[in-house]
Amino acid sequence: MAYKNFLRAFFAISGLIICVLASCAKTESSRIELALGTVCSITLFEQGQESVYDEIFSRIREIESLMSVNIPSSDVSRINAAAGIEPVQVDKDTFKVIAHAIYFAELSGGALDPTVGPLVALWGINSPAPHVPTQEEINSVLPLVNWRNVELYNQSVYLTRRGMALDLGAIAKGYAADEAARIIREAGINRARIDLGGNIILIGQKKDRSPWRVGIQNPEESHGAITGILQIPEQSVVTSGIYERFFEENGKRYHHIFLPSNGYPVDNGLTSVTIITENSIDADALSTSVFVLGYERGRLLLESIPQTEAVFIFSDRSIRTTPGAMFILTDKSFSVKR
Ligand code: AMP
Ligand code: MG
Repeated sequence: MAYKNFLRAFFAISGLIICVLASCAKTESSRIELALGTVCSITLFEQGQESVYDEIFSRIREIESLMSVNIPSSDVSRINAAAGIEPVQVDKDTFKVIAHAIYFAELSGGALDPTVGPLVALWGINSPAPHVPTQEEINSVLPLVNWRNVELYNQSVYLTRRGMALDLGAIAKGYAADEAARIIREAGINRARIDLGGNIILIGQKKDRSPWRVGIQNPEESHGAITGILQIPEQSVVTSGIYERFFEENGKRYHHIFLPSNGYPVDNGLTSVTIITENSIDADALSTSVFVLGYERGRLLLESIPQTEAVFIFSDRSIRTTPGAMFILTDKSFSVKR
């Protein structure tokens, strides 16, 4: 199922479909590669700067080689293997991303918890054979999920209990997208689009100075169907939703974002949350945090963070947005509530 989803994602390019309506066809170039377990697509809207693609993709692969749980030599795998045994010295990128994840874990009251690794493994959500665990199995891993048991010191990371495991899936793509944006800006490129499996950053302005337009995925459909279009300036847009990774068992659908307090996929009436803000790492952390917190608490959290907008989609097909989000509904089977 995961592989099927992945292929679907590949052919549809990403969970969020960008509708670039500028007349850029002749000067535009793109490169698409598989990395970070997803489809990574970079588009430059000017000619003559294609050499930057190599630099961007090698940086993305470097981040993957540090933070992937599927690479045994990665920093994250080494930290997990040493859980309850000893602290592990890590690269400064890894340390930075883990520290950022812990910051958002605290800010969200543990809704985002980078120690969900044992739950992700138990459900097998990223494996070829995901399944619903027994309540006993869930009860046995829940005590291992607790961001307060991560000790950060001097570029070393220690998980204090044996069996604990980090999973940076909720935040690492955002960091990689920010790094891609930094490389693009440092190369003096004025207009570009980064899409790392739905973690999107738009750089610069369209030629006609109209806002960028980003399609928001219909969470009930496979990749490619949108509910509406977001108009945004130079910013990042990241969505967390039930459609990104899921499986079905006995007619029920189980997705990939877990409630750390009970160990089950979040079931709070939301089907997706999209965050629009400056940095992709923040947008990525917040989309997961707010999805887990649910509408009321998620919105309260967002009110405490300046210059951050959101679109919430619910299972009853209603949509709510924060006041500054410029969202245009296109699928009239949904309705926007203020
Ligand atoms: P995202 O798509 O950014 O919302 O991230 C979802 C991914 O983060 C999942 O595939 C898991 O690897 C991981 N994850 C699931 N639930 C949580 C959670 N409550 N806190 C942090 N990471 C999570
Ligand atoms: Mg996220």
